[in-house]
Amino acid sequence: MTFRITYSVLEADLTELHREFDGVLSSLRSEFGKSYPSWVAGRALESGDLLDSHPPADTRQLLARFHRAPVTILDEAVRAAHAAQKIWAALPWQERVARIRRAAGLISERRLRLSAIMSLEVGKSRLESLGDVEESADLLRYYSGQVEESNGFSRPLGKLSPNEDTRDVLRPYGVFAVISPFNFPAALATGMAGAALLAGNAVILKPSEETPWCAQGLYDALRDAKLPDGLFQVLHGEGHTIGAALSRHPGIDGVAFTGSTKVGFELQRLMTTGKRMRPALLEMGGKNAAIVCESADLDAAVEGCARSAFGLSGQKCSALSRIYVARSRQQEFIEKLVERARKIVIGDPTRAEVYLGPVINAAAVARYEQAAADVKSGGGTIHVGGERLRGGEFEHGYFVAPTIATVPRSHRIAKDELFLPFVIVEGFDTFDEAIALANDVDYGLTGGIFSGNKDEIEQFMDRCEAGVLYANRKTGATTGAWPGVQSFCGWKGSGSTGKGGCGPFYVAQFAREQSQTRMG
Ligand code: NAD
Repeated sequence: MTFRITYSVLEADLTELHREFDGVLSSLRSEFGKSYPSWVAGRALESGDLLDSHPPADTRQLLARFHRAPVTILDEAVRAAHAAQKIWAALPWQERVARIRRAAGLISERRLRLSAIMSLEVGKSRLESLGDVEESADLLRYYSGQVEESNGFSRPLGKLSPNEDTRDVLRPYGVFAVISPFNFPAALATGMAGAALLAGNAVILKPSEETPWCAQGLYDALRDAKLPDGLFQVLHGEGHTIGAALSRHPGIDGVAFTGSTKVGFELQRLMTTGKRMRPALLEMGGKNAAIVCESADLDAAVEGCARSAFGLSGQKCSALSRIYVARSRQQEFIEKLVERARKIVIGDPTRAEVYLGPVINAAAVARYEQAAADVKSGGGTIHVGGERLRGGEFEHGYFVAPTIATVPRSHRIAKDELFLPFVIVEGFDTFDEAIALANDVDYGLTGGIFSGNKDEIEQFMDRCEAGVLYANRKTGATTGAWPGVQSFCGWKGSGSTGKGGCGPFYVAQFAREQSQTRMG
């Protein structure tokens, strides 16, 4: 395959790609049911009880089994990570970058297998899965570039007298716990872990319990790129057990987390208890809005909104969940969006023609059914969707219909992150009102506008309280950021650091500054 997949691909001849994907998928099926270890201190831990991975499209199947890491293993894991970190940090930065670049190359070479695993395990469409894997390799390359451009994070500073020499250097913290979510299991685990490693740290990864198989691919690539034993470890298990114990462990020097705002706030509190401050680099949820102005190209707006609201079943932190439309065009917009939603091909996401797979688990289906019930009981209207899909190929999976609703402004559905293919559409009378509505949530991740008026676009860029903004983007109103192209910074309740993944300041956050003055 020579074609490069990003999240913004609209039209391309993908025949060859699909043929290759089909081949990999069928060989993968012969591996179903295998057991995999957690990776502790450079060795396979095969004694823990088993975490089973089932495809959300058909829960009768068993994809693979993973040995959970017991909490009692943490002391050994942390000790080994500290020992390996010393070896790693003593290498020239050029050598560290070379090995991480090698891992990026291996991920790219293995992209078909890795994305087929992801499509099965997450329920992601083929193209979204390929995009996620490709992004993970690009993140390693882009972050490597940040170390190179900064001369290994070392630069001369000023002098107060002629015989002094001062340098500013960034030094690693030590051992990072990296805790990743299910929805971008390659890009997010790789991005956080890769940046921590490039800054000279060791990493203990606790991947989402929903996507353990995806984490194995990252472990394989880093091991094959010859990282020191114990420098990168993978502990499987649930968040409230091994995740919580790992982040509480006194030997952990910092946490990088991507996931829900609730867990993020808990981790922030944890990192400030005790006698020293430990960094908590947190990327969290979103409740993202798009504004469709009177002058908008309505077809582009409908396409961009549909892709961002329903892609990956609305399970992107950047997913579009609120649309504010100029009152004069509200009815026409809703009709077109409903028509577009009805055309979406839903089903087993490993099939080439499917755009929308299942949601991740039973809890997500329950959240969906509750949201639909709350719209109805709270004075809202469901324009399309609102029901779990059953029968045929839906019967044994977590399938729900893409949903478009209108609710009163104070309704919880207009404020809470649902993380589902569920979008609300509301009218506005003035542009100021639209901006105020877009900003009236606790989150601040992404936002979009469709307008033919340059002044409105500039006002939106200036006044929208979110870290990732797009104007007139048919390929995705609020989704589809790419490393080195869109930085991805959560404002307000969506992030803790004011610097985003995919952006130029990311890697530096995994290290602390030190000035070194030497008198001549
Ligand atoms: P989640 O918060 O449930 O889980 C994320 C990770 O945290 C998992 O590995 C989980 O096991 C672990 N965890 C859970 N409780 C824990 C605890 N008490 N201590 C330590 N670890 C714990 O999130 P999810 O359902 O996997 O992912 C969806 C969420 O992630 C959404 O809110 C979404 O918006 C957010 N997200 C944000 C970004 C971003 O870049 N801002 C990107 C992707 C997803």
